[in-house]
Amino acid sequence: MTGIYAENSEGIFKKSVLEAASYASQISQGQVTAVCIGQPNAGEADKLAQYGVNKLICIDGFSNFDAQTYSKELAQAFANNQISQIVFANTYEAKSIAPRVAVIMNASIASNVIALPETSSGFKVKRGVFSGKGFAYVTLDRANKVIAITPNSTELKENSTTIQIETISATQTTAQTAISSTSKAGGKIPLTEAEIVVSAGRGMKGPENWGMVEDLADILGAATACSKPVSDMDWRPHSEHVGQTGITIKPNLYIAIGISGAIQHLAGVSSSKVIVVINKDPEAPFFKAADYGIVGDAFEVLPKLIEAAKASKN
Ligand SMILES: Cc1cc2nc3c(=O)[nH]c(=O)nc-3n(C[C@H](O)[C@H](O)[C@H](O)COP(=O)(O)OP(=O)(O)OC[C@H]3O[C@@H](n4cnc5c(N)ncnc54)[C@H](O)[C@@H]3O)c2cc1C
Repeated sequence: MTGIYAENSEGIFKKSVLEAASYASQISQGQVTAVCIGQPNAGEADKLAQYGVNKLICIDGFSNFDAQTYSKELAQAFANNQISQIVFANTYEAKSIAPRVAVIMNASIASNVIALPETSSGFKVKRGVFSGKGFAYVTLDRANKVIAITPNSTELKENSTTIQIETISATQTTAQTAISSTSKAGGKIPLTEAEIVVSAGRGMKGPENWGMVEDLADILGAATACSKPVSDMDWRPHSEHVGQTGITIKPNLYIAIGISGAIQHLAGVSSSKVIVVINKDPEAPFFKAADYGIVGDAFEVLPKLIEAAKASKN
């Protein structure tokens, strides 16, 4: 049987979880069961049902996130429901849970999976490697399989069904870690979910100039991102840092403003479907990875782009 970990954020299932549901429903021979921690908000279970999930098991009893206890509970729920193929969305949370679940269940595991498996001989998945610069085909040969899919890389295919919801109580709630404080990312649209990302680098000269970047993002309905030095200098929050040491994203459109295009930056964004680069240096390496390039001063180009975007929206 096939299952997913339905990670929820304050009771909401994000698009990446729906992608996991859709992936699971496409590889499943029958029922798809989702397991989540806590209770989803009203109507959220129906979103899972839209993508083929027939059953949702909610595990109650946790007060805060703890990878070790979550993993034990999830593995137990999957085993109790004879689930041998488990799909995760490869989020920060899943990165700390999926490998633990795989160990507990003695499963084969592949992360960064970007396509449906080939099953003609064995169970072979395609995964991104070397920070997205290459692909590897991996055969998962154990009976239990854990597959963590990269957000925005697989198709969301509707497969509406009805969903049955069951609540169980956690048996192992003694957390190994305690969260002393949390701070929320400020962006209006979560970076990993965004279809369009407007990103800027050191070329913007200082945090006081980000108004233009945010204006363009607002008009386009985009999330904002930045290069590593920008977040290191506290011009922008670390949650916006994309690249090898930051978040990996795969939006439909990535607009890079005043970013040189260092290999470590490209590692996190090069899988974007369309890349637009704005840089005053025609020799900036980013142009080699760009689909469209504007050679010009961001402080002249951005106001014109904002006006044009506003006009086209109107
Ligand atoms: C181990 C390691 C990991 C790293 N991980 C990451 C990572 O995850 N993400 C990341 O981003 N970096 C990462 N880096 C840093 C990376 O190597 C680069 O230093 C960084 O990406 C450069 O940031 P930048 O392009 O904003 O700045 P710069 O390299 O300073 O480039 C600024 C660009 O802006 C252009 N510019 C200047 N003024 C204007 C203007 N008025 N209008 C238009 N263009 C203008 C310039 O021509 C230049 O191309 C990592 C480095 C190391 C060693």
